[in-house]
Formats: sequence, structure tokens, C-alpha cells
Amino acid sequence: MPNLPSHVKYILEILEQAGHGAYLVGGPVRDFVMGITPKDWDIATSATPEVVQTLFPRTIPTGIRHGTVTVLVAGDSVEVTTFRQDGAYLDHRRPEQVAYVTRLEDDLARRDFTMNAMALDLRGKRTDPFGGQKDIIAKCIRTVGDPAARFAEDALRLFRALRFSAQLGFAIDADTRAAMTETWGRARTLSAERVRDEVEKVLLSPRPGVMEDVLALGLLSSYVGPLAKDTVPFVQLSALSATSISRWAGAAAILAEAGAIADPVVFLQTLRHSNTTSTIAGTAGTLASALPTDPIALKRLLSRYGSAPVSVAAQVAPLFGNQASSYVLEQIFSSGEPYCVEQLAITGGDLLTIGFTPGPNIGAALSALLEQVIVESSLNQREELLALAKEFLQENTR
Ligand code: ATP
Ligand code: MG
Repeated sequence: MPNLPSHVKYILEILEQAGHGAYLVGGPVRDFVMGITPKDWDIATSATPEVVQTLFPRTIPTGIRHGTVTVLVAGDSVEVTTFRQDGAYLDHRRPEQVAYVTRLEDDLARRDFTMNAMALDLRGKRTDPFGGQKDIIAKCIRTVGDPAARFAEDALRLFRALRFSAQLGFAIDADTRAAMTETWGRARTLSAERVRDEVEKVLLSPRPGVMEDVLALGLLSSYVGPLAKDTVPFVQLSALSATSISRWAGAAAILAEAGAIADPVVFLQTLRHSNTTSTIAGTAGTLASALPTDPIALKRLLSRYGSAPVSVAAQVAPLFGNQASSYVLEQIFSSGEPYCVEQLAITGGDLLTIGFTPGPNIGAALSALLEQVIVESSLNQREELLALAKEFLQENTR
């Protein structure tokens, strides 16, 4: 019997004692079969959501419309979902209706892949009606039932097949793969958020090269044009730190370099990334393939875009054969050489004391001083800058 954390055991026991079927399902069962310790726990039960809510003192109706209740035990929480069968799929995305069922096997039959359609009870007895264990041993991703029908029902499964192949290093079964090349067009029915979340799992996985399969299948054709020229292989993204910002910046840089997207910032916004992520990762993606190595040029970019996008761009630049920018940037940061107005030895207030009038000329003067300091950082002394500012004032009031 696999080792279950006490809160998971407790929930399974309470459900069983009340006379209901209760099983671990999906990801954690797959993990156990693969010899991995699960990170999260999904429970399926024959008890209805109402019953689950009465059996446990603390619950949240997280996905009550789909039969999911989150049960809180001490500091832990587990999603408990009532056995269900999905109805016809109205928009290829959401089940038109949820029908609760009493048989575990009917619940497993609605699940996407054989490896995800297994259940495990408290005593360690596994239910595996579709050969999930056999497929896991063969490292094979195979749909439950007719693949074309399953992808037509829910196009998210097209992405899920590829992201599991990226995360687990499994191959996609030939029939399943063939159905994907027939049904790929359904991907257009998916919301940008769901596409983004699945693609991100590919980018952050140990095999980001699977992005090439995602593109070749046409799954991103709503967001990405054809690759106009040879580009950096996506597998190289694994050299970048495994953060969302770096991997998206790298992917956007590769796509932009290949002519498949016009503007990385817009690309990321279209995928409903936050404005912060779109700006930082998108600007980095725009800059990365031609990032300068000259310190003055880098400081100008820092002054224009801020340190975050330029730092990420320097992280991505090695994909394009440029290792130097990141070293030069390190030197700029550690030397304390100024690259933004806030680092100047004088402020707008100082300018007022030497005859400037409030207004846009203050900002213009500070920018002009910064440009001089970027070129020659030894000028960043109060007296020097005040003298230069006076010259600026004379020239601009003449
Ligand atoms: P992860 O480790 O990424 O959480 P997981 O298998 O737990 O992997 P989830 O997205 O958490 O994946 O989904 C839980 C389970 O729900 C899956 O194992 C699968 O049985 C089922 N499932 C999820 N999404 C779908 C879908 N689109 N179609 C059919 N079954 C699905
Ligand atoms: Mg899960």
C-alpha cells in the first residue's frame, strides 16, 4: 500500500465509513505507478457534493457545478469530486451537463488518457480498466476510447497529450497521434487562458522542444503565424532558468526571430498574460536576439526599459550565441554605474534652485544629464552636474 498523508487517508476513511465509494484518481495514481511521490491529491467519490459537504466540517464549493468540493483538514486541502459522466460537449470545451453516476468505472471512462484513468482505494487496490499501468510501463500516451471522438469532445486534450509527453517523456500512441492531426483545428475553440496554461507547462517541462510539435500540429495557429525561417530549436530553452518569465521570453524571442510573431509583447498579451509579464517577457523577447554587448548601449536600454526586461533579455541572449551581454550587465550592476535618473547625483529639486522653472524642461534636463553620465559615469558628481545643468538652461532658453 502506498504511503498516504494522514489527511488524505482521513478523507477516504470518512467517506467509506459513510458507505460511499472513495478513491484516489488521476495524477496521484499515475504518480504512484511511476514511483513518484504525488504533489497533489484528487479524490473521486460516489457521494454527492451535498453529502460531502455534510460529512466534513470545513469545505469550499470550488467547482460545485462540476461536482467538486474542496475539503479542508487542518492546514491541508483536497479536491473531492463526485463520480460523473460528461454529457455532450456543447462548445468543445465545457460539458453541457454533468451527470453524477454511481459506478467508478463510468467516472474513469470520461477521463482523457489511460494513464489518468486509474483509481486506488485505501487498501491499495487499483482499478485500471483501460490498461493505464501497461501504457505507463510502455511510456505511451493513449486516449480512453476513440481518440478522434475524445479530441473532438474537448480540444484541451490535444494540448494535454503534448504537455504530458513533455513532462513525462512519454510518446504519443500512433492512433492517438493520427487523431490529433485530424482534429487539431478544434484548438481554435479554446480560451487563450487555457492554451497559455498548457503551453506554459510545456515550456517549463524538462522537454521544451515539444513546443515544436505544438506548432507543427497547428495548435497555436490563432496566435502564431508560420515559421518563415529556420530558428533556434526550442529544446535550448531548457538552458534558461525554469521560471515563467524566462521561458516565455525565450519562446517569444525564438518565434519573433523566425518571423512567426510580429510583436512579443502583443503575443503575450493575446495569451492573456498579465501586463507585467507581457511587458517584461515581451520586451526581453524583442531585445534578446540583438542585445548589444557594449556597456553604453546596454545602459541606454536599461534607462529606456528598466532593469527587469534587459536582465531577462541577457539571460535569453545565449540562445542567439551572445554570452557577453550578461557578463557586461553584471559588471554594470556591480560597479554601480548609473543608468537611470534616480541614480543621478542631483534631483529635479536641485534644478529649481539654479533657475529652472517647474515643467517638462526639468525632465528633459535630467534625461540629457543622464545621457552624459551613461557615456561617462565619472560625471555623476553634484557640482559637475549642476554646472552641466546650467549650460543646458542657457542653451535651452536662448
Ligand atoms: P497534474 O500533475 O498536471 O495535476 P493531473 O493528471 O492531475 O496532472 P489535472 O489537470 O489535475 O491533471 O486533472 C486531474 C484528472 O482529471 C486527470 O488525471 C484526468 O483524469 C482528468 N482530466 C483533467 N482534464 C481532463 C480533460 N480535459 N478531459 C478528460 N479528463 C480530464
Ligand atoms: Mg492534478
